Amino acid sequence: MHFLDVILPIPLQKAFTYHITEAEANFIKTGMRVAVPFGKSKIYTALAYKIHNNPPTAYEAKTIHQILDESPVITSKQLSHWEWIASYYMCSVGEVMRAAMPNAFILESETIISKNESTEIDEQSLKDDEFLIYEALQYQSSLKIQDVVSILDKKRVLPVINNLVEKRVLNLQEELYEKYQPKLVRYIKLHNDYKTEESLQGLLQALNKRANKQREVLLTLFTLTASSKEPVKVSELVKKSEASSTIIKTLIDKGILEDYHIQTDRVQFEGEGNSNVKILTEAQQKAYDSIETAFETKSVTLLHGVTSSGKTEIYVQLIKEQLKKGKQVLYLLPEIALTTQLVQRLQDYFGEKVAVFHSRYSGNERIEVWNNMLHNPEKAEIIIGARSSLLLPFKNLGLIIVDEEHEQSYKQFDPAPRYHARDAAIVLANMHGAKTLLGSATPSLESYFNASQGKYGLVELNTRFNNVLMPDIELVDLADKYKRKRMKGHFSDRMIAEMKETLEEGFQIILFQNRRGYSPIIECTTCGHSPQCPSCDVSLTYHQYKNQLRCHYCGYHTAMPKSCEACGNPTLDTKGFGTEQIEEEVKELFPNHNVARMDLDTTRGKYGFEKLITRFEQKEIDVLVGTQMLTKGLDFRHVKLVGILNADNLLNFPDFRAHERSYQLMAQVSGRAGRSDVRGKVLIQTYNPHHNILQQVSVNAYKDMFAEQMNDRYNFKYPPIYRLVKITLKHKDYNRVNTAADWYAKSLKQVFKTNVLGPEFPPISRIRNLYNKNILIKIPPNQSLLKTKEAIRKIDNSFNAVKDFRSVRAILNVDNY
Ligand code: ADP
Ligand code: ZN
Repeated sequence: MHFLDVILPIPLQKAFTYHITEAEANFIKTGMRVAVPFGKSKIYTALAYKIHNNPPTAYEAKTIHQILDESPVITSKQLSHWEWIASYYMCSVGEVMRAAMPNAFILESETIISKNESTEIDEQSLKDDEFLIYEALQYQSSLKIQDVVSILDKKRVLPVINNLVEKRVLNLQEELYEKYQPKLVRYIKLHNDYKTEESLQGLLQALNKRANKQREVLLTLFTLTASSKEPVKVSELVKKSEASSTIIKTLIDKGILEDYHIQTDRVQFEGEGNSNVKILTEAQQKAYDSIETAFETKSVTLLHGVTSSGKTEIYVQLIKEQLKKGKQVLYLLPEIALTTQLVQRLQDYFGEKVAVFHSRYSGNERIEVWNNMLHNPEKAEIIIGARSSLLLPFKNLGLIIVDEEHEQSYKQFDPAPRYHARDAAIVLANMHGAKTLLGSATPSLESYFNASQGKYGLVELNTRFNNVLMPDIELVDLADKYKRKRMKGHFSDRMIAEMKETLEEGFQIILFQNRRGYSPIIECTTCGHSPQCPSCDVSLTYHQYKNQLRCHYCGYHTAMPKSCEACGNPTLDTKGFGTEQIEEEVKELFPNHNVARMDLDTTRGKYGFEKLITRFEQKEIDVLVGTQMLTKGLDFRHVKLVGILNADNLLNFPDFRAHERSYQLMAQVSGRAGRSDVRGKVLIQTYNPHHNILQQVSVNAYKDMFAEQMNDRYNFKYPPIYRLVKITLKHKDYNRVNTAADWYAKSLKQVFKTNVLGPEFPPISRIRNLYNKNILIKIPPNQSLLKTKEAIRKIDNSFNAVKDFRSVRAILNVDNY
């Protein structure tokens, strides 16, 4: 008798066992996919794990449906890494598998398929089975795998579907994807034939007689070229000369003007170079050498380099070094939105060797990256991606770069696996005998602490590229400005003056406000009522643009009422402000300039983010108002002023990391200012100009911030000194959550005594109709993490066995961020 343990992509504590034949046992290898029946009528794609001869004791083993691969689709190192994640972050390997594999790899009976409308399908090329499915989709818009089973009247349908997905005949649900092509902007210049003074004179003479309008266009072009060093856009010429585009076309047809396209690529735009790797400056070279030296003795090194010091250029050199050795490099970014600028930069250097792994990519593209990693290593030497790219089939990693390592989005919240990509990257690198480089201008306390303890190497780079000065940061006291009536809306006189000057000089401005919408609270001035979300414990935010009230937690929205729903008076007033209101105020203050907004609302659509960045890079936008999205490592050339409208709501956030985060956020936004030759200016408006964090931000005193915050973490027993495990209980019934949380906390306290905090409701206690209650376990530095988790697991198992609590969800979050 032969049995196969498989990993199913669901939260099962144990591997599930199936009966296989001798022939199957001889063929199957760990890491191949098999289709298996599960539960009453479901089919899943599972991963073969172990072959053995021991029948399961608790149930009768079923047989597998079929084997889906001829060779493993995952590597053994990859599997070990998944196992580490599952064990460290207290989830199942199946949950890691689900996060790791492209959907199309793990078809299941619930998967919905539909016709891919965007490809021309050659019906002749379809095999009989394939055609039947294709035909069925002419009559209905979607099918489940089960439907396919009955259409084809056989169980083994997954390979047929896989083929159709590969032939791009089918789409799997939720995979709408459109590749973003950066817009090509059309520019215009005088044809080379007329570059000499003589030929030009001749031309103007000729035009003078017959084509006055054409001559005017030419003269406008000369004026534009003379007044700015930058290339002239066709649209600009049309506007300035008030000529029709037909006239311009005529000039082009006559060979007098020439149009050309420039891709939005900054490197070409500046005309600075080609794809040659830049030569490191002396300071950068020194940092590079120190990194190499550090790696001789440490497997992890932290590069603490101020904003715009050229960290990316150093990464490029390190990547080159690895490629020479025939090793792979993984370049992790906190959010894939960032890749637009970076991918371009790296592709300029490394071309085809760069593969981007993107959760927004379609199944096909993700499968392509995956397969290239397994079979065409030359196309996957450098992988750029967000946290889940860590879970790919790497063969011989030499280096992992974790860029902006302090970013909290490296930690996955929901669903499991709730892993921290930086930490999991270090483990992965060790499995490959590779190195990890963490990079940031504002390192996390965790990493800086590890570096200062000698656990990691530490390399500091304190000068900006080109020796541009760090921006000059000025704090503006809001209390004083309001008292002396120096405010217009939410703008102080200082802010307005600096904005005016910046715009007059032709530079751009970034304004930061960490709330989106128009205003976060609507309140009736008669009765004090303020509209709340029906499903969450929060006030609704007013969005003026859509004239709606919206919940930022569940997406609930409703039209803005004309009068108070409680007392009926038309006395609704807004309190607080978000990005919409700031955008509106800027438009009023500077009606002749282009203002745009970058937040979740304006970047939601496909590639909304990229489009905004491109417009800003091309200077179609003068003032960009936005939320934290603005902070993320963006490299803009013409930004001189950065304004932070209100620092206080960052500082007052109820979280033990609030101060650290505020520092990082403000330092990062500030870092967007003055990245080329002029010194940048930053204005921070606040009611607490003497707050230590603000003082530290204003003089770039990272180390002071670190020392002070670490002191608090020691005193109050928080990370990086103690470790945290957070347990969140969720249920729609308030009382049941309370009882469950009390039971759980009591059990924990028997083991961990005073190191258990709570249960406590979070500031927003109900989200999407579910009440949340948290329990926090603090783990002292000398306490075994493994034993601690074993104890928690035991309690969790008993908890799940209590009948009353069966419907309560308990979520375990290790190293809660
Ligand atoms: P960081 O990642 O540290 O913020 P970047 O690597 O983005 O800094 O560098 C800032 C800017 O300076 C980029 O536009 C980059 O192209 C330029 N730069 C940095 N180092 C060099 C160099 N050695 N030669 C030419 N340009 C450089
Ligand atoms: Zn809500």
